Amino acid sequence: MKGEKFIKLLGASVALATFGVLVYLEIRRPLRESVESKMIRNSRNLTVAGIAAVALQLAERPVVAPLTKLVERKNWGLLKLVRLPRWLETTLAVALLDYTLYIWHVLTHRIPFLWRFHVVHHVDLDLDASTALRFHFAEMIISVAWRATQIIIIGVSPVSFAAWQAFLFPSILFHHSNVRLPIDLERKLQNLIVTPRMHGIHHSIVRQETDSNWSSGLTVWDFLHGTLKTDVPQNEIIIGVPAYREPDEVILSKILPMPFEKQRPTWQLPETAPQQLK
Ligand SMILES: [Zn+2]
Repeated sequence: MKGEKFIKLLGASVALATFGVLVYLEIRRPLRESVESKMIRNSRNLTVAGIAAVALQLAERPVVAPLTKLVERKNWGLLKLVRLPRWLETTLAVALLDYTLYIWHVLTHRIPFLWRFHVVHHVDLDLDASTALRFHFAEMIISVAWRATQIIIIGVSPVSFAAWQAFLFPSILFHHSNVRLPIDLERKLQNLIVTPRMHGIHHSIVRQETDSNWSSGLTVWDFLHGTLKTDVPQNEIIIGVPAYREPDEVILSKILPMPFEKQRPTWQLPETAPQQLK
């Protein structure tokens, strides 16, 4: 149990430090031009994130903590079929959680019921580290069922779960960030982990581009599934979804009720779309 607490604390400190460094770099070396004011967007996104964090505490914690302990005690799941050294079991668990998150991400786009929640993340007109935290609270609650399935099937112990979270948070903050990395460095990193240019393509208003780069940690899953896309010039990418192109359509009071309202056809531009998109 001590190891788990240490990893949790380390993960939270690394995530917080990563967020601070990324926000600094986004101001110094932005990758894309901003549509909305960073201050307004960041406060909006952090509010959505705050509500989601409360939802996670109330819905995920009471499930994950006892379930991972139960899995450990009863030796449930794939990784408990054979006796593995702790470090290997943890590494494999992190990789398998990362892969099954890839599948969940595809499902949130493909299943209309899930997309109405995930779209709240995608209607942001800009993409930066604050977007990484901006998930609708209901998407977080629904994902608990997937999380529980992952834990049981893979056989995720409390330590492995804490290790995955410690890896995942800095990773999603990083690849959502609006930081212009030196291109050579980004190309090297892209072989291993998801990078800002790569994930920017997933947030493009062009559907064929959004339907790529689903990974949240390791790039290998997109590579294996043939969904890796890196050939889109960054200055041609417009962030968001076609159905919501105006800043006043993505304010807090519009995005929180969005999943519960009648959905617009996401990939269709509204009549009044800005000229540049037609
Ligand atoms: Zn997505």
